[in-house]
Amino acid sequence: MCTLSLKRALYNGQVKILEVHAYGLRGKTPEGGWANELQPDDCVHTLISIRTEAGIGWGSVFTSEDLVNASLNILRPLLIGENSLEPERVSEKLHQHTFWLGRGGAVTHTISGIDLALWDLLGKACGQPVGRLLGGRYRERVRPYASLLMRDPNQMADVLLPVKAQGFRAFKIGWGPFGRRGSFAIDEAIVAEARKAIGEDSLLMVDAGASDAYWPGDFKWALRTAEMLLDYDVFWFEEALHPDALEDFIALRRAAKVTIAGGEVLTRRQSFAPYLERGAFDIVQPDVTKCGGLSEQRRIAWMAREHGVRFIPHGWNTCVGLASDLQIASAFADTDLVEYLTGSPFIDDLCAEPWQLDADGMLPIPDKPGLGVEINLDRLAEFSGRSTKGLGS
Ligand SMILES: [Mg+2]
Repeated sequence: MCTLSLKRALYNGQVKILEVHAYGLRGKTPEGGWANELQPDDCVHTLISIRTEAGIGWGSVFTSEDLVNASLNILRPLLIGENSLEPERVSEKLHQHTFWLGRGGAVTHTISGIDLALWDLLGKACGQPVGRLLGGRYRERVRPYASLLMRDPNQMADVLLPVKAQGFRAFKIGWGPFGRRGSFAIDEAIVAEARKAIGEDSLLMVDAGASDAYWPGDFKWALRTAEMLLDYDVFWFEEALHPDALEDFIALRRAAKVTIAGGEVLTRRQSFAPYLERGAFDIVQPDVTKCGGLSEQRRIAWMAREHGVRFIPHGWNTCVGLASDLQIASAFADTDLVEYLTGSPFIDDLCAEPWQLDADGMLPIPDKPGLGVEINLDRLAEFSGRSTKGLGS
C-alpha cells in the first residue's frame, strides 16, 4: 500500500498525509460509573487512522465518532498533503486555524488523536519508539494500576481479588456509590474493605470521580474524606472536587495530608497552567486523547515538573491510548505508574499482541517503532462496523 519507501521518505524529510479516517468503538463499551451510565453500544472512544505515502499511523480520541467526524470535516483540508514527520508543527497548525471552532472541546479532542497518529508515524519512519523521540527512555517497564469501579462495601473483595490474582499490585477504585450516598460511613467502609482485600503490600488509590454529572460533594466532604483516606494508606485522592473548582483544589492540597490528583478532563496546556502555577495538585493527570495529544501532554508534563507536580498520564481507554501512556511514561524520570482498565476489549482485544504483566506485576514498555502496538484489524472492523481492508500496511 505504500507508494514511498521509508528510506526515500527520510531522505526527502517529507512523507505526505493522504487520508484520515475515524473508527468509533462500540458494542462492548465498558461501564464508566457515570450517573447516566454508558451502555455497550454507546460510542465514546474513536480511533483515528492517518494514511501516508509510507504507511499508517494510529491515534485515539475520547469523543464519539459523530463528533470526531464533524471535527475531521473541518480539520481535513488543513491536514491532507501535510508532512507526517512533523507532529508538533502540524498539530499546532490545526490548533491555530481552528481557534474559533470547538477550541478545548471536540475539535481539540480530535486533534489529540491526529497528533498521536503523527507521533506513531514519525516513530515508524525513524525506526524508534516514541518515548525515545520524546527525549529518551528512563525505564523499560512501568507499574500498571488496575482501575476498578467501586461497589457496595461487601462487594469490594469480589471486585479486587480476581484482579490481584492476575498479578496487579496497584489498584485504583472509584466512582459508583462513593460520595454519592450522603454517608461517610459507607464511603469509609468501601475503602476499608478494599484495603483488607488487597493487603498492606499493594498500592491503593481512590478516585471520587467528581467530574460526574451533578457531583454532590463539596469542599468539606473532600477535606473530611481526605483525612479518612490516610487511615487506609491511600496513595492518592483523585478528582475529589469538581474539576472547575480551582480555589477549592488549592485549599484542599494545602490542608490535606493525602496526595491530591486531578486534571483528566482539562484540555490545552493553557487550561492546566493556573492549576500548576497556583498549586492545585500534587499529581496532574492530563489525558492524551483529550488534551491535545502527546505534543501538548509533553509540555504540560514539563510545566508540572517545573512546579513540583508529579505527572501521571491518563489515556488508557483504548490500546492506542495505553500505548501512548507507556511511551511518555518511559520519557519522564518520575512517571512510574500508568492506569489500566482490566478486561476492556478496547484495550485488550484491539491489540494484535495482548498486554502481559511480568512476574512483578509490571507492564513492559514496547520498544518497537512508533507507539509500538499493532492493531487487530478484525476486531477493529467488529467494534467500528467499518471495513478495515487495506489498513494492513
Ligand atoms: Mg479519574
